[in-house]
Amino acid sequence: MSTDGKNDGGFRHGDDGGHGGEGRDGEVSGAAVEAAGRRDAAVRAAVEQGLLDPDRPLVALLDVTGIRRSAAELPAAFAAVTPPGTPVLHAFAVKATPLVPVLRLLHEEGIGAEVASPGELALARAAGVPPRHTVLDSPAKTPGELREALTLGIAVNVDNPQELARLDSLVPRSGTRSPLGLRVNPQVGAGSIEALSTATATSKFGVALRDEGARAWVVRAYLDRPWLTRLHAHTGSQGIALSLMARGVAEVYALAEEINRQAGRQQVDTLDIGGGLPVNFASDATDPTHAQYARLLSEAVPGLFDGRYGLVTEFGRSLLAKHGTVVARVEYTKNAGGRPVAVTHAGVQVATRTVYAPEAWPLRIAAYDAKGRPKEGPAVVQDVAGPACFAGDRLAREQALPLLEQGDHAAALDTGAYYFAHHYAYNSLPRPAVHGFAPDGRGGIVFSPVRRAQTVEEIVAESGGGSPDALTRLPPS
Ligand SMILES: *Cc1c(COP(=O)(O)O)cnc(C)c1O
Repeated sequence: MSTDGKNDGGFRHGDDGGHGGEGRDGEVSGAAVEAAGRRDAAVRAAVEQGLLDPDRPLVALLDVTGIRRSAAELPAAFAAVTPPGTPVLHAFAVKATPLVPVLRLLHEEGIGAEVASPGELALARAAGVPPRHTVLDSPAKTPGELREALTLGIAVNVDNPQELARLDSLVPRSGTRSPLGLRVNPQVGAGSIEALSTATATSKFGVALRDEGARAWVVRAYLDRPWLTRLHAHTGSQGIALSLMARGVAEVYALAEEINRQAGRQQVDTLDIGGGLPVNFASDATDPTHAQYARLLSEAVPGLFDGRYGLVTEFGRSLLAKHGTVVARVEYTKNAGGRPVAVTHAGVQVATRTVYAPEAWPLRIAAYDAKGRPKEGPAVVQDVAGPACFAGDRLAREQALPLLEQGDHAAALDTGAYYFAHHYAYNSLPRPAVHGFAPDGRGGIVFSPVRRAQTVEEIVAESGGGSPDALTRLPPS
């Protein structure tokens, strides 16, 4: 998570064109090398099998093997630090990769869903995620959403006193089985990316615990409502130090202990510790791992892991980011001000954060040739631009890669979360197709379509194409 920021050149790939698997300290992890090998094979196969061609110059790929491994590593990480029988739900933050087949794959691996809108809840349900594996968090739930959640029996984390008042009128007559809790903001401070720091003094999320009178209000709220049995905090996403995340969890644990002491019973039986494990965008290494975080938490907050509390986690980015790749054809190349520029089909529409905040969100680019083979050649500092009509539309600035040529492919790595699944409709550019890939058992790669590319007809239809005279038929003034 290099945010040193002068340019994106924090990610120099050396002479191997970025296809290696070096960890940050140069140590090569077998898993990272394997992941890079799977990716190289998939890019080549995508070209050979025609998923990418001059008329389909952009595609997104999901490494199903990698997703399954992460989905197995996460529960194992927490199982290693909790007594046997501890109820633990890992709920994937749907916003990170809101694609039904991804949610189904995770569900098959035992991972649930954290949802924060009616759309996300519908995706989780379409994937078959059961209510008992679903958690609803959102700062702006409508009465209808709350009623639906209670009817379904999904867990709800209440954001604020007004929402709690709504539940006061809904819960008693609902007969709901929904586990209910309150989100608190431990106000432990910000990380390096302000927009993703949810535990600052003035964050919009949850009940700000250190504000005057807030803590006493929360304790009273629980004592008055025996149906409040959970506490929730999510200290931030990407850019938050593990130690700060652990402090947030420690604060929530201390609050749960205080509530339970005053209640004279284990009223709070489950802590939802949110997600936010940062992802390393600088190499193929997974760093930190869920296992490192789980160990750190068990050392920092031992009481949370002694068997008295159930746990919910809500990881998003750390489960999916490293398993997605956007591959774009290089349409043209040019030189500007002495710098080579490759104009590709991946830009702001699939990498919105990187384009608008390049210093906070640098992406590694890997160069592949026209046949989808890792490109060889000396590293040349170049820009990788997108197709949109504004100057800032660059996937990478001053990145050292084998010189991209017309017809080559540029791959934006680690884009499985918060990138291609978050289409931005600038210039009416279409949503690209997303394909999952896996080994075919005969040394090749098999693809399965996750989402088709959006068609131009769909763009027109979604842009008022069905009512072209909607404005002209209004009476003239
Ligand atoms: C976004 C979010 C998450 C997931 O964050 P990641 O950084 O993707 O792990 C979890 N919980 C809540 C409440 C969130 O808003």
